[in-house]
Amino acid sequence: MSGTDYDVVVIGGGPAGSTTASYLARAGLRVAVFESETFPREHVGESLVPATTPVLLEIGALDKVDAAGFPRKYGASWTSAESRDIPHLGYSGLSHGWTADIQFVERDQPGVDRDYTYHVDRGQFDALLLKHSEEQGAAVFTGVRVLSVDFDDPERVTVSCRIGDRTVPFTAGLVVDASGRQTLLGRQLRIKVPDPVFDQYAVHTWVKGLDRAALANSAEEVDHIFVHFLPIKDTWVWQIPITDTITSVGVVTQKKRFTEANKDREAFFWEFVSSHPALAEALHATERVRPFKVEGDYSYAMEEICGDRFILVGDAARFVDPIFSSGVSVALNSARIASQDIIAAHRAGAGYGRERFATYEDKLRSAVRYWYEFISIYYRLNVLFTAFVQDPRYRVDVLKMLQGDVYDGEEPKALTAMREVVRAVEENPDHLWHPYLGTLKVPAPTL
Ligand SMILES: Cc1cc2nc3c(=O)[nH]c(=O)nc-3n(C[C@H](O)[C@H](O)[C@H](O)COP(=O)(O)OP(=O)(O)OC[C@H]3O[C@@H](n4cnc5c(N)ncnc54)[C@H](O)[C@@H]3O)c2cc1C
Repeated sequence: MSGTDYDVVVIGGGPAGSTTASYLARAGLRVAVFESETFPREHVGESLVPATTPVLLEIGALDKVDAAGFPRKYGASWTSAESRDIPHLGYSGLSHGWTADIQFVERDQPGVDRDYTYHVDRGQFDALLLKHSEEQGAAVFTGVRVLSVDFDDPERVTVSCRIGDRTVPFTAGLVVDASGRQTLLGRQLRIKVPDPVFDQYAVHTWVKGLDRAALANSAEEVDHIFVHFLPIKDTWVWQIPITDTITSVGVVTQKKRFTEANKDREAFFWEFVSSHPALAEALHATERVRPFKVEGDYSYAMEEICGDRFILVGDAARFVDPIFSSGVSVALNSARIASQDIIAAHRAGAGYGRERFATYEDKLRSAVRYWYEFISIYYRLNVLFTAFVQDPRYRVDVLKMLQGDVYDGEEPKALTAMREVVRAVEENPDHLWHPYLGTLKVPAPTL
């Protein structure tokens, strides 16, 4: 659009913002990214799923990611502790003691030419993608915070940026909000809706020297992501390889448990981990190399994910619980689908009205709905997840979800079947699985 500083301004240079910028710059649009931090900066969310691969390939960044030497991720494993009575932590009273694992090689995924993805140091990964967008032609400004966006002019947006001690306006035809969980436009436009059910909380760190084989069933599993279920309702621990020797570890639970425990981060972390003795033993033999950090209040939706002259991508559009490592794949794929609509609108030359983003809205909402329901069912009845992973009728279809392959096509049939089983278990108090029902019960998602 002539007469503006840029065709498109992107707020935030995380994976959603940098990927959008790469797509748009490669298509010849004048695009600027404003990122408040200077990179590299630390970020939670380190384990990818293979649905990131086609996007990285399409923007020309996959070779660089490959060359960066991130650990390869061939699959995912789940463990569950034998029960141990810790009533004040909300002990579930049930002993599961199960394990499960999947390998990506078990299912061919359209557009994915390899049987692995990566675990990434997000500082390094995000910096690589942002630099890549600059190399594709985007103007990248770091250390520049966007304060607000003015939509008063029907032809353009004016984005106010904080540069040093000055506030500087930039104009564009469209603004893409990729500000992550800061949700700049969600807050400004008052369209953010907290999740009615999930109010999860995470305490996490990096450790050195973890024996990753300690809880693995086989050598192939050692560099998987591990999700260790604790015998405390709705509570789990992630284990993600970052380098040969460093592992990211985080406890996720309901926020109220953290408040009730009334402990500092470190004491809370160790008390919860102690409910899984094998994991606790392996972790006690490590050296912590990062301070404990927390993440909270992170599940929400938006009443609108696009409108006249704006689109929300990545976490700025929606955040669902991170149990299946979906976040970066949603960031990259939302950037991909949004960019297709933006480029088409730009070429049509008739402005960036909301009606131009109908495909994006439709595809992103249905993909995130699948994720959300899959995650909800998992929390509601996690023995069902194990049963489905082991059932040859559903294993490949569950794997499709775990690969993040949810953007094109119909509802995965495992999801339909799981929904029916949960309903049957809920309605029948004598059902063998009834005592295993979790406390988080989700109404049908509407946003
Ligand atoms: C506990 C936890 C565990 C997770 N684990 C995983 C995992 O294993 N795998 C996975 O894929 N995902 C995981 N996620 C999710 C993942 O972290 C996010 O989905 C992902 O980072 C989203 O990318 P994004 O680009 O949308 O946002 P971000 O990566 O958050 O990037 C947003 C950027 O915008 C910048 N910004 C914000 N406000 C402004 C402003 N006003 N002006 C300029 N810049 C601004 C920020 O500095 C930031 O760099 C996890 C999340 C949580 C909370």
